[in-house]
Amino acid sequence: MSAENLVQLLYLVSTALFILSLKWMSDPETARKGVFSGVGAMTLAVLGTLAGVLATGGTHYWWILGAFALGAAIGYPLAQVPLTAVPQRTALSHAFGGLAAGLVGTAKFFLYHGQGNAAALSPFIVIALVAEVLLGYLTFTGSLMAAGKLQELKWIPQRPVTYPGQNVGNIGLLLVALGLGVALVLNPLAPWAPAAFLAVMLLALAFGVLLIIPIGGADMPTVISILNAYAGLAAVAMGFVLNNKLLITAGALDGSSGLILSIIMCKAMNRSFANVLFGAFGQAQATVAGGEQKAYKADTTESAAQIMAQASLVVIVPGYGMAVAQAQHKVRELYDLLKKRGVTVKFAIHPVAGRMPGHMNVLLAEAEIPYDDLLEMDAINGDLPQADVVLVIGANDVVNPAARFDKTSPIYGMPIIDADKARTVYAIKRSKAPGFAGIDNELYFLDKTFMLFGDAKAVVGDLAKQLAGESGMH
Ligand code: NAP
Repeated sequence: MSAENLVQLLYLVSTALFILSLKWMSDPETARKGVFSGVGAMTLAVLGTLAGVLATGGTHYWWILGAFALGAAIGYPLAQVPLTAVPQRTALSHAFGGLAAGLVGTAKFFLYHGQGNAAALSPFIVIALVAEVLLGYLTFTGSLMAAGKLQELKWIPQRPVTYPGQNVGNIGLLLVALGLGVALVLNPLAPWAPAAFLAVMLLALAFGVLLIIPIGGADMPTVISILNAYAGLAAVAMGFVLNNKLLITAGALDGSSGLILSIIMCKAMNRSFANVLFGAFGQAQATVAGGEQKAYKADTTESAAQIMAQASLVVIVPGYGMAVAQAQHKVRELYDLLKKRGVTVKFAIHPVAGRMPGHMNVLLAEAEIPYDDLLEMDAINGDLPQADVVLVIGANDVVNPAARFDKTSPIYGMPIIDADKARTVYAIKRSKAPGFAGIDNELYFLDKTFMLFGDAKAVVGDLAKQLAGESGMH
């Protein structure tokens, strides 16, 4: 087998593994296999490239090995972040991907221009180079901003920053960059071409920041997924520039899966792409949150445990607060104790509960709660009127009935878990603070609702203790 054929074979196997990885990751039973096959695919891709360089007698393999070591040195600590920080970690990965595409595009353009290589700077390649650089650099700065917002860095405002003429200004900037791109396609070897290329690069860097500042923290997971799609498209463009089929297919998989994920999230929130990108969601609620104070009824874990012990169906609705408190193992204890008493316990999983799709599933799977008892919103909502108790653990927006009837609410139209239809509602949270969308929750003021104020891990732990301790409870 020739060296070239070997490289192509490695790339082919790698592409197949990337595809299988996506397929396997879509099911909790096979997700682990999916992760390993993704890692395997990437390793084969690097090995294939290395083999190609060695076979042609190239001496720059040290660069590949060096990049491999550098990537691993940065990637290893990134992999250690807690699950709640995965969205910002993912944003950082996209930033690196975008930067890599941008840098490769820049290097190639300056190389070919310096050589006066008209054949290499064909219109098709220059279009690919401009697309690569535009998407790559805007993904770089956009993803860094998104990661900063999610990490709640002090110097990056969480609330959307808007000003008059913002959208027109941004679109104008993009049009200037595209205009320069067209000029470059027509005159790639002109003496002013390097300056125009640098201008495209700077505009893309600025555009990434400007694109993200009007978007609120609550929309960042969706935006990250859109940036994922941009990074994938930048990789596709890079694949055309480098004539590398693996980059084209892997980039297309990355781009389309990012796009599909953002569509799923938008649907689950009943929002459009345009609303996420330009809606400045999360801005106006500061005044709403500060409005009149309604009365909550607080209860003790002792009486809550008694009511739950007597129930025949308890539905648990986990949310972001359960993730922050890392309460999933205590939740497992509670689940076991209730089951032991013959109570049917189900989990109601909202598609955007927490801060990333599948967030709750991952946490509950970590605590080894059987998948059969995790029910998607549509599957469980019909059972809620029969539930004796709904236990809301650190969830807020996803159980807010305002989504159903309040047309002025920022979450109006978002499908919710019908917690308010159960006979009794217990809600665990630390304070009277609103959820991510920054709005009050009518659920907490209902006659049938009782608040269990405190950290989710501590409160669920107490509930479990009550249930375990009072074996005489009926
Ligand atoms: P949420 O609306 O953010 O509410 C979480 C609640 O948990 C808060 O009200 C908070 O109240 C409480 N909490 C925080 N830390 C806690 C702790 N240690 N112990 C107990 N409670 C704690 O969460 P959600 O209902 O899961 O809704 C998710 C939100 O994120 C939605 O607005 C959704 O649209 C948005 N979002 C999600 C995704 C996704 O993919 N999952 C994507 C985009 C947007 P206290 O501060 O009073 O404790």
